[in-house]
Amino acid sequence: MGYYEQSVPPVRDSRLKMGDSYAGNARDLVNCGREGCLLQKGRGFWQTNACQMALSLMMATTVENSVIVMHAPGGCGALLHSLSVQSAKGKGQRGKPPNALPWLSTNLTEADVIGGGERKLRETIEYADREFRPDIIFAVVTCAPSIIGDDVEEVVRQARSRVQADVISLHCPGFRSRVVASAYDSFYHGILRGLKLSLKPWVDFRPPVPGDPQAELEDKKYRFQKSRTVHVWNATSIGLADEREVERLLTALGLKVRFFAEYSSRDELRMVSEAALNVSMCNVHDDYMLKYLEEKFQIPYVIAGMPIGFRHTRKWLMQIAEHFGLEKEAASLADYEEDLARKAIEPFVEQVKGKSVLICGGVVRVGSEATTLSELGFKVLGIRAYHYDEGADPIFEDVANTLSEIPVAVSNQLFEMTHQIKTLKPDLVISHNGTQGYIAKLGVPAVQLFNADSSFFAYSGIYQIVRRIVFEFKNTSYRERLSRHIRLPYRQSYFEGDAFKYIKD
Ligand code: SF4
Repeated sequence: MGYYEQSVPPVRDSRLKMGDSYAGNARDLVNCGREGCLLQKGRGFWQTNACQMALSLMMATTVENSVIVMHAPGGCGALLHSLSVQSAKGKGQRGKPPNALPWLSTNLTEADVIGGGERKLRETIEYADREFRPDIIFAVVTCAPSIIGDDVEEVVRQARSRVQADVISLHCPGFRSRVVASAYDSFYHGILRGLKLSLKPWVDFRPPVPGDPQAELEDKKYRFQKSRTVHVWNATSIGLADEREVERLLTALGLKVRFFAEYSSRDELRMVSEAALNVSMCNVHDDYMLKYLEEKFQIPYVIAGMPIGFRHTRKWLMQIAEHFGLEKEAASLADYEEDLARKAIEPFVEQVKGKSVLICGGVVRVGSEATTLSELGFKVLGIRAYHYDEGADPIFEDVANTLSEIPVAVSNQLFEMTHQIKTLKPDLVISHNGTQGYIAKLGVPAVQLFNADSSFFAYSGIYQIVRRIVFEFKNTSYRERLSRHIRLPYRQSYFEGDAFKYIKD
């Protein structure tokens, strides 16, 4: 049985060659990943780790007119308080009703853990349907029901005949996977199994009437439009500004662009089969879904890194253009845009050239950003990726070829990041959201690796990235003063050893 037929999605730990603990360089990392030795690595000490449920929820909460049912103890849903605000903002930005997100919890207790929580889940799904009349109910399966063996799939199967909403199970218990990226597969698995992903006649289109003289013309028009339609797969970290920039470039090539799956409604999700090409914006985000769409609807896909910086953007554009025979147009578009953007960033690049930088966060972004900044004249001191899996091989092959001597780590551990900042002493840290406070306490200038409210992709993105860095260097007094008054929870002797001494095979 293939992955797509299984009721519970695979985790990346079993689907891909991956790892979350490594220190070395890019070449060894790629080789270690391919040989499988990355899988064997762990730590003698862990400070913290993340739960894949958070990322599944980030995606699910963006789906229009949906309700989240947490099948969980009360605490697992805490994140939804902030996600609700974030998703309403994202919907509003995209011209959709910025409604508050309804979410419910089965609030499993000790008694439920002993006796089972299936009845509570069934009642909560039925209540959600009656009360909110949503298009979709996401039943989010967390650690507790997975450990006690609640038959969530059977509850969902029975609920489908009793409620008007489509009920989708999202299996994302934190204990099943060491890498949060498993959450993307979990969300897509729920969507591809729980929703009808093709057009409905008389709802989405008017079927041709026999003998209608217009039918042949309409059919040709439909086929032509489809042959020029590209579906681009977004992510929570990719904001509207980046979507607009990508759309601007692809539209300039004469292509029609739709974005999936975040911020889509159930009706829009039926359109996923209506494209000539699926395009990913991140190697480790969408491969599970894009491979499914190729298998089910024969839609080819392009996974060509992230369009960050001149070289990566050109490669990304060219690979899409190649599918449509538009290579010449794409090359001259890239030449034109690059020329404009290079002139625009020149005065800013002059101000920061030669600055040393440590780059931390998601594996594709850190690799792309490191090579981009190096090409602009920054001195890259190190790269830290939160996890590594084989989807990132092309990016890190590139890092191995261009930054072969640079230390590369796979780590989401804050104590290791702190050690690196203290010992490498970078002029600047570029880091994942949520870590800025820790870096500020060390007194080091820092900017975010991504931010859904700003621009990072392609030509407007590189302009914004460089300007953001220049701005950060203009006023560092807050960080300097903060660091003078903060006592770190580390002994000085900790910084004298190897930052990665706890990593073991
Ligand atoms: S790890 Fe398990 S118990 Fe903890 S938040 Fe995630 S799903 Fe809930």
